[in-house]
Amino acid sequence: MAQHAGYSRWCYNWGLSLWNAAYKDGYKPNARKLRKVFTNHTKPLYPWMKNLSSKVYQYAFINLGEAFKRFFQGLGKRPRFKKKGKSDSFTIDNCGKPIELNGWSHKLPFIGIVKTYEPIEATTQKITISRQAGDWYLSCRGERPFAPTNEFTPTSTPKTTEVVGVDLGIKTLATLSTGEVFESVKPYKKAQNRLAKLQRQLSRKVKHSSNWYKAVVKLAKQHRRVANIRRDALNKLTTYLAKNHGIVVIEDLNVSGMLANHKLAKSIADQGFYEFRRQLEYKCQCYGGELVVVDRFFPSSKTCSSCGHVQDMPLNIRTYDCPECGLSIDRDLNASINLRNAVGLTVNACGRSAADSSGGSRK
Ligand SMILES: [Zn+2]
Repeated sequence: MAQHAGYSRWCYNWGLSLWNAAYKDGYKPNARKLRKVFTNHTKPLYPWMKNLSSKVYQYAFINLGEAFKRFFQGLGKRPRFKKKGKSDSFTIDNCGKPIELNGWSHKLPFIGIVKTYEPIEATTQKITISRQAGDWYLSCRGERPFAPTNEFTPTSTPKTTEVVGVDLGIKTLATLSTGEVFESVKPYKKAQNRLAKLQRQLSRKVKHSSNWYKAVVKLAKQHRRVANIRRDALNKLTTYLAKNHGIVVIEDLNVSGMLANHKLAKSIADQGFYEFRRQLEYKCQCYGGELVVVDRFFPSSKTCSSCGHVQDMPLNIRTYDCPECGLSIDRDLNASINLRNAVGLTVNACGRSAADSSGGSRK
């Protein structure tokens, strides 16, 4: 598989350099022309290619053509040369016949038998095989029969709370207007120290030596672990929100503006606001709820959730102390209650003190 991925990369890069050269000379290249030149003139010069599947270069050129198409449409960057070890992948098919995946063990065209860690049931036309942090992944498109028990079929769930406001925080992942708090993902700090250590170890190795490659894989595995932990926490939060609440109210964060503020940058980027919103959108639909996104200029953290008084709230102030009504409340909880109230379905606006906010803590 590594050979095939290498073959795919070779062809992609070959095609890209020819494409660039042809373009400079005033020609209009396309994937089909590239393939013709390659099979007639280039492939015979490299005997090692005979031992590998010819599907690989066909798909490499198709992918290159698609990449240029996206570039010309303004949807993507100009295609760049692929590097070894960075998203190694290749695509194969079965010459028009379907590929059957069944159980743990699969007979792939040209590659032979491979075993997977999970059973797969699918019939597909083509398979893309890619390497991530030393492990190989199969991806394919398949059809699945529509059945009422299908986990992706929308099903309404009973809701325990009618309306909930959610404030995404810096110190915490999310604070709910019900007082529940989702803590930031803890393993991340630990994992980050480990990332830094692996990065240091890598920098001390001779580049492209076998120990260097081992360190690269170790580092990539740690990166993947961190990404998985983060994804898991976010999915649990959005599922919980969508399943148990009729209306979920969130704030439309101006992420690019906030990323300019360096202190905020890390936590927001880590916790992925866009992904949070995307998941909530489809999960609320799935569980029969509704997502309300409040305008980003709504002063959710500056407003007193009890009397409506507005005051400036610098980021370092963690408690909202209202001079008008004397309310003292956790900053994030105050914001989440304001979000909930923003939909106009106010349910007993708070008199909670800051200490109460930790009461419903939830991991
Ligand atoms: Zn007040």
